Amino acid sequence: MYDIAIIGGGPAGLTAAIYARRAGKKTLLLEATACGGQMNNTGKVSNYPALEDITGPQLAQSMQKQAEDLGAEIAYDRIVRIEPGFKLVGEEDEYLAKAVIIATGTEPRKLGLDGEDRLAGISYCATCDGGFYKDKVVAVYGGGNSAVHEALYLSGVAQKVYLIHRREELRAAGDVVEKLRSNQKVEMLLGTNVTKLLGDKKLTGIELSSGKSVELDGLFVAIGREPKCDFCSDLATDGEGFIVADESCTTSIPGIFVAGDVRTKELRQIVTASADGAAAAEAAIKYLA
Ligand SMILES: Cc1cc2nc3c(=O)[nH]c(=O)nc-3n(C[C@H](O)[C@H](O)[C@H](O)COP(=O)(O)OP(=O)(O)OC[C@H]3O[C@@H](n4cnc5c(N)ncnc54)[C@H](O)[C@@H]3O)c2cc1C
Repeated sequence: MYDIAIIGGGPAGLTAAIYARRAGKKTLLLEATACGGQMNNTGKVSNYPALEDITGPQLAQSMQKQAEDLGAEIAYDRIVRIEPGFKLVGEEDEYLAKAVIIATGTEPRKLGLDGEDRLAGISYCATCDGGFYKDKVVAVYGGGNSAVHEALYLSGVAQKVYLIHRREELRAAGDVVEKLRSNQKVEMLLGTNVTKLLGDKKLTGIELSSGKSVELDGLFVAIGREPKCDFCSDLATDGEGFIVADESCTTSIPGIFVAGDVRTKELRQIVTASADGAAAAEAAIKYLA
């Protein structure tokens, strides 16, 4: 029986593990894939205090090492259910804990179009998959900061980049939009939606609500992120599925706490996820006492 089980090994979960272990609690962190979460998909992180020149994966490794050096146990398993008590049911095994911290983060929002899960050539992360599109034709769909950053990144690799957005104006900050507008490789298609994905096994193009078809080697979808927690239906959530909690990181169920991007909050960043990890661990420690 663990004192505290943490689900998710991003910055929120890893920081919670550090705080829980420093308080001497028997701590298990459960991670579905690789520790680091979204930090693993980030190049340079320029806004984490005191670390001016660090990449996301370096920051992730450093947080994981600190948690493990302090004695946190890490198990690689995807949790599918939490039963009262608490019993955490994973795809591989089951785990018992007196308190639980959910730190499962977010995942990219999908287009919801036929073929999206089947066709090769559709991605949600330019820094992860952009390298496959050297000298190819790609499109980014979205109009916020991440879409514009993805398009700028891809313009350094691909032969041509379309930026497609359903509104006439991009939502991204003015300076990056200017950079994009002056980029010769980028063509903007504004005021139009992607309505159809073309191709059999591999994406060959898209159809737009404007009636235009575009031939493509790759499509990068950047229309925001949504909470990743299939097993959280017993907890109070907002209309979008984020677990309702304030900075105390307490949920509607005593003994279950929440940290990071998966909870209701204004700013989803590494530093705020880490702050939540600390607060959630402290709340769990008080609950155990
Ligand atoms: C491309 C990109 C660039 C970014 N750049 C920056 C930046 O420069 N600066 C900044 O501050 N922020 C940046 N962010 C945002 C930042 O990375 C996130 O706010 C932060 O990682 C959220 O941390 P988290 O721990 O809440 O969740 P996540 O990082 O999403 O981690 C959640 C973890 O939980 C695991 N998990 C999910 N479900 C389960 C389950 N059922 N069982 C077990 N494990 C599970 C996942 O595998 C994942 O490892 C960026 C994000 C992206 C995508």
